[in-house]
Amino acid sequence: MLSVAADVTAALAKTGRQELPQVTPIDSLVPVHAPRPDSSVQTNLQETNPWEAQAARFDFAARKLQLDEGLWKVLRYPSRELIVHFPVGMDDGSIQVFTGYRVQHSFARGPAKGGIRYAPDVSLDEVRALASWMTWKCAVVNIPFGGAKGGVICDPRRLSQGELERITRRYTAELIEFLGPEKDVPAPDAGTDEQTMAWIMDTYSMHLRQTVTSVVTGKPVGLGGSRGRREATGHGIAVVCDEALRHLGMPVAGCRVVVQGFGNVGSNAARVLAARGYTVIGIAEYDGGLYNPQGIDIPALLAHRKSAGTINGFAGATAAEPHELLTRPCEILIPAATENVITSHNVERLQCRILCEGANGPTTPAADEVLAAKGVFIIPDILANAGGVTASYFEWVQDRMGLFWPEDEVNQRLDAIMSQSFRDVIAYAANHSVQNRIAAYMLAIDRVAATTRQRGFYA
Ligand code: GLU
Repeated sequence: MLSVAADVTAALAKTGRQELPQVTPIDSLVPVHAPRPDSSVQTNLQETNPWEAQAARFDFAARKLQLDEGLWKVLRYPSRELIVHFPVGMDDGSIQVFTGYRVQHSFARGPAKGGIRYAPDVSLDEVRALASWMTWKCAVVNIPFGGAKGGVICDPRRLSQGELERITRRYTAELIEFLGPEKDVPAPDAGTDEQTMAWIMDTYSMHLRQTVTSVVTGKPVGLGGSRGRREATGHGIAVVCDEALRHLGMPVAGCRVVVQGFGNVGSNAARVLAARGYTVIGIAEYDGGLYNPQGIDIPALLAHRKSAGTINGFAGATAAEPHELLTRPCEILIPAATENVITSHNVERLQCRILCEGANGPTTPAADEVLAAKGVFIIPDILANAGGVTASYFEWVQDRMGLFWPEDEVNQRLDAIMSQSFRDVIAYAANHSVQNRIAAYMLAIDRVAATTRQRGFYA
């Protein structure tokens, strides 16, 4: 009896849930029309709900833009929300039912675009927020996409390759008529990678009975992937850090960086920044942290992680408590993992000059207020981590042309877009006397609103 219960618990832990997840009804999205002070972003929310955090910034930026109420409603809500519950055969012979989401926030400027996340705590509100952020991000860097995001509730660390493949293929099949190069183009996000994208491309192609590489980006280079895509988010972070230092008149020499998260985004950001002369003094991971005031040798750390499977035990740094690393003095802090890392609980203790958001939604609106009072220069997520989707755009273009660029060309184009976008956001902030984050939202909303007005409402 005990072992059966233990088996069931272990199996359910793989799906991260015991019952169907709670779905926030669409009614809860209807905004409260209570008068709010116009002078600041609403912060009396459930602090760690990403949808509320996104909506609060959106509302504030939309009011600053004096967006009319109709357009405000159109842009505030996702166009389409898909929830699928689907069976998967597990390695032990059992059948488990998984839950997946795909939220397509906007198609105004082109096909919906955005990653797919595999994590035990994925929720509809989180995917809604991430989908909206994709719309704003694509508009900030001015690429012809709308925004979407997907998620499957599962713990990829506890699933075999075979189980992951079956989850991915079935999830893709459930969404098949909503995906496509001109409809919605997924990409990797937390818990998914190039292999996941290869399975999606193959499943979609099998259903269409023709190979369609441009249905997904972030694929392996041999399957229509773009050179430089894997490194692109980290590379883009380095470009905007360079721009921020130039803007603030600070030298690269002696610029201390702390990176939280050492996945694709954090590790590539650390690697490119170290190669450009920054001193990466701290790395905080989910299972441990490293500190070396002289600078951590990132290529050596990557080699250690490859053999040891963890950053812990690296000889070139001392062990440090990951949460505490965020509050060490540094010039640049880069949260590059997940949402809600900088909140009202730790923001007072931060000692960085620049906060460069590699993750989506790492800072809560309540924390923003404190950061502004402290004079921290924020490079907001929808600008800072846009290098990934920008290289995804290049991949989509290359797939459709059937002509592939050398890595240098990808990087040159990426540098140009990231630098220009940084300057656009800074100029917007100065012209409208707002913080960088609100400037990025305003710039993005302005662009999406303009396209929406031109297209008109098929209402
Ligand atoms: N998941 C990444 C992001 O949040 C990349 C999305 C994409 O390339 O479509 O920006």
